[in-house]
Amino acid sequence: MISDLKGTFSHISNNIKRSAIREILKLTQNPEVISFAGGLPAPESFPVDSLDGLISTMLKEEGAAVLQYDATEGVTELRELLLKKYQDEGIECSLDNLIVTTGSQQGLDLVGKVLVNEGDTVICGLPSYLGGIGAFQAYGAKMAGVPMDEQGMSADLLEAKLIELAEQGIKPKFIYVIPDFQNPTGITMPKSRRIEILELAHKYDVLLVEDCPYREVRFEGEAQPMMYELDNDDHVLTLGTFSKIFAPGLRIGWILGPEAVNEKIVIAKQSADLCTPTFVQKIAVRYLKSGVFESNLKKTIDLYHQRRDVMLSEMEKCMPKGVSWTHPEGGMFLFITLPENMNALDLFHKAIEKKVAFVTGNVFYCNGGGNNTMRLNFSYVNNEKAIEGIRRLAKIIEKEMVTTESEIFA
Ligand code: PMP
Repeated sequence: MISDLKGTFSHISNNIKRSAIREILKLTQNPEVISFAGGLPAPESFPVDSLDGLISTMLKEEGAAVLQYDATEGVTELRELLLKKYQDEGIECSLDNLIVTTGSQQGLDLVGKVLVNEGDTVICGLPSYLGGIGAFQAYGAKMAGVPMDEQGMSADLLEAKLIELAEQGIKPKFIYVIPDFQNPTGITMPKSRRIEILELAHKYDVLLVEDCPYREVRFEGEAQPMMYELDNDDHVLTLGTFSKIFAPGLRIGWILGPEAVNEKIVIAKQSADLCTPTFVQKIAVRYLKSGVFESNLKKTIDLYHQRRDVMLSEMEKCMPKGVSWTHPEGGMFLFITLPENMNALDLFHKAIEKKVAFVTGNVFYCNGGGNNTMRLNFSYVNNEKAIEGIRRLAKIIEKEMVTTESEIFA
């Protein structure tokens, strides 16, 4: 082995941290564990039967073409279909604004690659998606967290942060937000908050990166406009994906962004993977055209709606007083806040012993906070298991509360 292996690794590889969630997921592999930990869509929602026929017809009709390289920007037909979806919603955009990526995770990585220099500041919510934070930190970003309230990132605190940074001579590279059914909280920003945040992005002349993997998975309330739509000055770049509305294994996402930023992203993507697999893009084209996309998405939304209801009603029944949680109108996650003095990590180990798992909320806080929070996924576990899992969790929390209280008064 080379003598100075450590010195041989790049700064980027040293910046990359092992995902805390991936580590937790290892502990939950045991099939007896009821896991609310992963961010997995329900496998029942994947259109296996429809794809079976569709793929063999595609191979018969298109042959070798589906196995060939294609443009880095993506298969034109797929880009056109995605574009039409946005244009039908009244969003102004052209083909130059749209690039297909290998999952939106690649989109996040490419955003980091083209925008972040070592030591640059990126603003995100407290809490925020770990995979986004990790992607930006890999390129040396310093994350500056802005607390959230029940409407998402606080606009007042965002402005305070922007002022504080400006006083230090720091201009952040971008603000990262997940406006719909945020991972990890499930919170959605109403239009008014989106406008406030966008106005600040304009006022302080900072790009806004809007990550929208859950946007279409809405089972209640009214859809809110995308920040891309509300913007009129090329300040917003949006990330989309088929992972939660079709199948994550296909690894298809996309970026809807300002042409000048997209040009850089395409060049960066060339050295990442030349192109997103042609085969899966062509499958997506046929799937979108088949009409099954809409009906399957509706089934998925109904399933998650029902699963969320079951979780919420069981939590209502058995969670001890002093514990609160979010009531997401869509997406796949809800977020629990325990009393201040409790630590979710202590609970986690006890929960694993009782064969129930969740993700401790602190991993989503770039400032080391959130020790009394936890993220629960409601899309993956069936109703029967969810009820049992919540009962177990409630008991563990209740027991821990008593212990913590007695420690305080001891
Ligand atoms: N952004 C957010 C907020 C997510 O929750 C996820 C997946 N959990 C992703 C991006 C990445 O999704 P994918 O690469 O599968 O499109």
